[in-house]
Amino acid sequence: MTDLQDLAARIRYVLVRSSHPGNIGSAARAIRTMGFGRLELVAPHRFPDPEASALAAGADDVLAQAGIHADLVDGLAGSSLALGLSARRRGVNLPEISPREAAQQALAAAARGEQVALVFGNERTGLENDELARCHAMVRIPSVEDFSSLNLSQAVQVMAYELRVAMLGDDAPLSAPVREDPPADAAQMEQFYRHLAQTLDEIEFHKGREPTTIMLRLRKLFQRAQPDERELRVLHGILADAQRMARLASGK
Ligand code: SAH
Repeated sequence: MTDLQDLAARIRYVLVRSSHPGNIGSAARAIRTMGFGRLELVAPHRFPDPEASALAAGADDVLAQAGIHADLVDGLAGSSLALGLSARRRGVNLPEISPREAAQQALAAAARGEQVALVFGNERTGLENDELARCHAMVRIPSVEDFSSLNLSQAVQVMAYELRVAMLGDDAPLSAPVREDPPADAAQMEQFYRHLAQTLDEIEFHKGREPTTIMLRLRKLFQRAQPDERELRVLHGILADAQRMARLASGK
């Protein structure tokens, strides 16, 4: 494999709850033209479907190899950087970047050997807040404000094109230094967030307040830090001790 194929293989396009099989086919074609092949489908409404195959226009290999997942966490498995594409800002307080910046970040991570996910939402509703909360940044294609929403597969095309241009450019960070301990992947982060939420509950941190906002804020903090596996183990250890102390204090 060439360097470019190596890089492309570490980048996946994740389509969440797509309604129209035609868009899945068009997205397959879009990424295939730009040298990519990894499509992951999270709870597609209809797939496989003849309409998907028709619009793939020959990119059948991409459709045949597409992974199908029940939820986004599964679709992100093994990836350590997730970038969520959204036309609107939503309630989630994530850093907002352009497709070009996203391409640079994605390639830098892929060049370090990490796996990267570009996440696209449902045609009508886009990405939900809890889906964006699993992303490290929000990517907005700079469309006009009063008509901002692109067709799903066209948004995929724009992102794939930016990645292709960045990969072909001289400034592609192909020789980025490998991080000694790669960041934990999405499943490990989810497990940590569950432990954190459970511990906050047990130490009665919330005091009657809704835990959702604080959990989103903490997610943002840890997404930014991108802890590696060893660091996560330390954090789990601290949480386990806090849980033990809470149980002692409550006499259980
Ligand atoms: N009404 C929805 C539009 C969904 S379009 C919304 O406002 O979010 C389907 C998907 O295409 C989106 O979830 C997003 O992933 C992508 N998309 C469409 N237009 C986009 C834009 N201007 N910037 C980034 N992503 C966009």
